[in-house]
Amino acid sequence: METIKVIVAGPRGRMGREAVKLIHETAHFELAAVLDRKQDYSNIKHMEGFQDMDAPVYTDAEACFSSVKADVLVDLTTPETGMFHTEAALRHGIRPVVGTTGFSGEDLEKLDGLTKDTGLGCIIAPNFATGAVLMMKFSQMAAKYFPDIEIIEMHHDQKLDAPSGTAVKTADLISKVREAKTQGHQNEKETIQGARGADVDGMHIHSVRLPGLVAHQQVMFGADGQMLTIRHDSFNRASFMSGVRLAVETIMKLDVLVYGLENIME
Ligand code: NAP
Repeated sequence: METIKVIVAGPRGRMGREAVKLIHETAHFELAAVLDRKQDYSNIKHMEGFQDMDAPVYTDAEACFSSVKADVLVDLTTPETGMFHTEAALRHGIRPVVGTTGFSGEDLEKLDGLTKDTGLGCIIAPNFATGAVLMMKFSQMAAKYFPDIEIIEMHHDQKLDAPSGTAVKTADLISKVREAKTQGHQNEKETIQGARGADVDGMHIHSVRLPGLVAHQQVMFGADGQMLTIRHDSFNRASFMSGVRLAVETIMKLDVLVYGLENIME
């Protein structure tokens, strides 16, 4: 297998640190550079925990993408920065694997156009955990039989976007198979705004943010006399790395935008 040269954006972050380790430890990947927003160090080897590595650090995306010979960008930053990096990477002939969540429908449309213009693949995966992808698929299957659904997503309290990308993606997948339905009583009224959570095509999404949590979601299906709950828990960031690895390998064969890891899992 040919070596895939990778730039990681957000290397000091919780996800970015794991991604840097993954790239370093995988024989057919090479860490070409990291893209940080602080230039406290010129090489990643000066960063705590990465002493055995060797890759330049950039703070300017344009400078990084034009001077480093790389195949793939793995972005794990914030929505606004992630969008900026993704567009810039595509323009420089680098394929983006984006784990950053919080992209809007408009962002996805823009990136779809850019992948068509450049002929380069781009993977946007709101959740890299293979178990979470199965949770979404199983939920889509169940929704055909149980159309009354509430989604509860639970994350650590430093998460910037709500609801989570995974919850929105789950609701989108369910909407494809479920007939439009307004849930709850037709005269339902919130006495405190937000009590019923976000509404996606009549489905409600509730976001819990607490220290101690990593990434968890349960999809609840209610029917007369029975309840089905499909739940997935990520207990650490390493749980996402098999998905990152699959995305980096797969993107080399893609020339379109792919939204969701389920589209590249056999
Ligand atoms: P985090 O710990 O806050 O890390 C984000 C990192 O991005 C920080 O180190 C931050 O730097 C850095 N950053 C911000 N702006 C930047 C810029 N302009 N250039 C370079 N780096 C920049 O967050 P996290 O938990 O790792 O999550 C990162 C993203 O991944 C979030 O969008 C999160 O929702 C998403 N996520 C995705 C998955 C998945 O499976 N797809 C799983 C978990 C999380 P500072 O420290 O200076 O702010």
